[in-house]
Amino acid sequence: MHLRLTEEQKMIQQTVRKFVQKELMPLEPEVLRNEREGKPGISREKKKELQKKAADLGFWGINTPKEYGGADLGQVMQAVLTIEISKTFVPFFFGGYADNILYYCNEEQKKRYLIPTLNGERISCFALTEPGAGSDTRRIKMSAEKRGNEWVLNGEKIFITNGNEADFAMVFAVTDKEKKGHGGVTCFLVDRDMGWRSEYIHTMGEWGPASLIFDNVRVPEENVLGELHGGYQLGLEWIGFHRWLVGARAVGSAERVLQMAIDHSKQRITFGRPLADRQAIQWQIADSAVEIEAAKWLVFNAAWTLDQGEDNRHLASMAKLFGANMGNRVIDRVLQIHGGMGYTKELPIERWYREARLWRIYDGTDEIQRMIIARNLLKGHVKLGDLV
Ligand SMILES: Cc1cc2nc3c(=O)[nH]c(=O)nc-3n(C[C@H](O)[C@H](O)[C@H](O)COP(=O)(O)OP(=O)(O)OC[C@H]3O[C@@H](n4cnc5c(N)ncnc54)[C@H](O)[C@@H]3O)c2cc1C
Repeated sequence: MHLRLTEEQKMIQQTVRKFVQKELMPLEPEVLRNEREGKPGISREKKKELQKKAADLGFWGINTPKEYGGADLGQVMQAVLTIEISKTFVPFFFGGYADNILYYCNEEQKKRYLIPTLNGERISCFALTEPGAGSDTRRIKMSAEKRGNEWVLNGEKIFITNGNEADFAMVFAVTDKEKKGHGGVTCFLVDRDMGWRSEYIHTMGEWGPASLIFDNVRVPEENVLGELHGGYQLGLEWIGFHRWLVGARAVGSAERVLQMAIDHSKQRITFGRPLADRQAIQWQIADSAVEIEAAKWLVFNAAWTLDQGEDNRHLASMAKLFGANMGNRVIDRVLQIHGGMGYTKELPIERWYREARLWRIYDGTDEIQRMIIARNLLKGHVKLGDLV
């Protein structure tokens, strides 16, 4: 059992850490300014420029298979890198990334969807949730009816990340009304110019998702992704990939803000002594550090398990549930330690506070993760003590 990164992994971690400190953190004031004016934190061009710089350092396609030019570093490294880039709120991700389910594209679809997405030429979005179907995805109603060699899509999707920016959507629709859920849902690749429109949804965070409206949108039959009626499985695969990474995002962000609290508590004097001298503050710092460490190990266990080719779904739910809640607790404590300043927009803590609340909702809410964990234990799919 090895509980440390290899020298090579540490070197990669250090390189990304420096990239984040040198290229991303200096952009934070500008991101805050832009967002205050209702603009995206950084422009698409700026993001591309940063992705190019990262690519020059070898960071392109972190988990993209080598046959597509990716680095294919594996999930442990995905966790390491996600933690590092989450130490800033600058909205950045490495280039050469495409949704895991786009690898189910056939050769023709790969040319139109997978490859342009990897190259940053096209933006995708994942459209499963509907006004009447969030946690209970089996209730989706978006209909797809076959007419000749086309499918006609009608319905609405809601809360779709990137829905306003996307060039195409991976849309889940009911193709067999008798079955619905498993066996009755198909995933379609639907270009924006096929006729769907999007409406921005204002949220408390800065990553406004969108509603997608489908009004008799005609989709050629060759745009079915994977198997006809096989969409539900694809949806679960997409969600499963992102779930435990929410925990990684929480770990990186919590580490950054806790350091801010440590620095602040040493400088801020009240009643003649630094805050850092007070047990009330020390205990908040200590509890936060312990919780970050615990979340980190859950994340790495989920990542490592996946790298072994094993089923990590139980661990992914644990990493997401604990990580998301840990992140919220730590950011709340850090805001408290900063007092009134923590509540202002002069500091980024309130921005993190708003973003962190989402971690408990998307990719399966807290309650859904608890449901999964409890079901696995009660049905005996997982036994206590089996996980290491
Ligand atoms: C900013 C943002 C971005 C998103 N991005 C995407 C995206 O890109 N693509 C996409 O498809 N979706 C996306 N979502 C949707 C997200 O996945 C759903 O909001 C989430 O799954 C919860 O569904 P819901 O909002 O319908 O809540 P509901 O399912 O209505 O749940 C409401 C509350 O009841 C609880 N609950 C539900 N069922 C049970 C139960 N059986 N037992 C106990 N409690 C229960 C839930 O945990 C929750 O607290 C996004 C959401 C947000 C806010």
